[in-house]
Amino acid sequence: MLSKLIDEDKIQKARKLVNRSERIVITTHISPDGDAIGSSLGLYHFLKGLGKEVTVIVPNRFPSFLSWLNESDHIVVMEELQSIAVRLIKEAELIFCLDYNGLNRINGMKPLLEQSQAHKVMIDHHPFPESFCDVTISHPEVSSTSELVFRFICRVGAFGSVTKVMAEAIYTGMMTDTGNFSYNSNDPEIYAIIKELVQLGIDKDAIYRSVYNTYSEDRMRLMGYTLSEKMVVFHEYHTAVISLTAAEQEHYHHKIGDSEGFVNIPLQIDNVDCSIFAREDKDKVKLSFRSQGSFPVNKLAAEFNGGGHLNAAGGESYATMEETLQKLESLIRRRSEFETNVE
Ligand code: 5GP
Ligand code: MN
Repeated sequence: MLSKLIDEDKIQKARKLVNRSERIVITTHISPDGDAIGSSLGLYHFLKGLGKEVTVIVPNRFPSFLSWLNESDHIVVMEELQSIAVRLIKEAELIFCLDYNGLNRINGMKPLLEQSQAHKVMIDHHPFPESFCDVTISHPEVSSTSELVFRFICRVGAFGSVTKVMAEAIYTGMMTDTGNFSYNSNDPEIYAIIKELVQLGIDKDAIYRSVYNTYSEDRMRLMGYTLSEKMVVFHEYHTAVISLTAAEQEHYHHKIGDSEGFVNIPLQIDNVDCSIFAREDKDKVKLSFRSQGSFPVNKLAAEFNGGGHLNAAGGESYATMEETLQKLESLIRRRSEFETNVE
């Protein structure tokens, strides 16, 4: 038996909103990851099973290692299908906000959600949620939004309607947000949930292979180049920085998702507990931060208009790559000022 976790009051409010809505839109954050897509598709299949007209809308494309997920081809990518996304959001009676805690995480969708008259329900696990939803189900202590979606479905009394495809989506999000259960994964209830999902018929080993062992040769060579040529280790500060310019990505035919996971690799170095990846995009440098143990990388990310969790955070820089790397180095040298735990 799982602990209750989510407030009964919030469950009741969200359930009522679902019951009285026919047209439902599920939204998730920019550069959707396994948890964003897994939680969205898990909830999508559930709501479809209730006979709702439901669409998942994402701000931009998701990586191809998630495209095996059932009905991922029905996801509306706003960047590519702007007018359809605008119409669906305008017509929606209820909007779910999954795996993000603030409107600046959805880029071009932000004004649409602000203008929308639809009721909104947030299900998320990032600290400090903004209050733009009618119901805010926010649990930073839970390692994935997908787990929260599973808990939500159970709490509305619908465990019996969880199908294998829903279970696959939910497992994918739980797996990817914990690095295949290698961090944020000490809660025994995670494994109680996995037991249920496996009993529903998921092939967890095949899901692992579909997500982690289907990379392109280009990606593998880009990873080799990044680690051998573009990694700087600040041993004294237990921190490693890797970076890629736009030209370097182009040279290796970089596609969305190709550098996903690179930031975790330097944590495998003995005595490195903080890793930072700076990747040059069209108009900015995207920064990813990871740590293990108590070092709060969301504090570092806050120095770059960003945030996130204690051990995983992101931000962006509008300076050049060179200036960004210099700023990073000076922050790393001031590491001790960031040591206190914020979660
Ligand atoms: P990633 O490095 O995978 O892009 O992001 C790691 C974590 O930080 C994710 O949980 C993500 O939601 C959060 N994150 C990434 N970028 C940003 C950002 O620009 N702002 C905030 N607030 N969080 C971010
Ligand atoms: Mn997540």
